[in-house]
Amino acid sequence: MRRQVSGHYDGASSWDNIEATARGGSARRSWYGNAPGGYTNLNPQMLRAMKILAKQGYSFHVTSIAGASHSRGSRHYAGLAFDVDRINGIKVGYGSPYWRKFLNRCRELGATETKGPGDSGHSRHVHAAWPR
Ligand SMILES: [Zn+2]
Repeated sequence: MRRQVSGHYDGASSWDNIEATARGGSARRSWYGNAPGGYTNLNPQMLRAMKILAKQGYSFHVTSIAGASHSRGSRHYAGLAFDVDRINGIKVGYGSPYWRKFLNRCRELGATETKGPGDSGHSRHVHAAWPR
C-alpha cells in the first residue's frame, strides 16, 4: 500500500518500506500517534516468509510494516511485523476465508505473534510478527 490506512503520506508506507529495503536502505517509521519516528531495518525472516507466501499462491494487501501508529512498543517499529487487510482479493473479517490458514502459515514460517478477527483491534486485519 502506497499510503497509510490513516491517510498519511509520510514516506513510511509498506510500499516505501519495501522499496527502501530493496535499495539496501532502512525502512522509515511514521512520526504520528504512538509511532517513534526514525528508521529500522526489516527483519529478513519476515521478508522471506512474505516471499514464500506469495510464491505459494497467496496475494495479500500489506497495509503496514514499520510505518503507521500501533500500540507502544509494537514489533512493527522494529521491522518485525506486517499487517494485511485483504487476502486473495477478499477483505479480512471474522467470516471471511483465507486469513486463518494465512496466519497458520505465518506461524509455520516463524511468526510468534499473530492476531486477527476475534482479537481486540483486529476485526478487519491480520497481524503477524517475528521474534525480537
Ligand atoms: Zn500489526
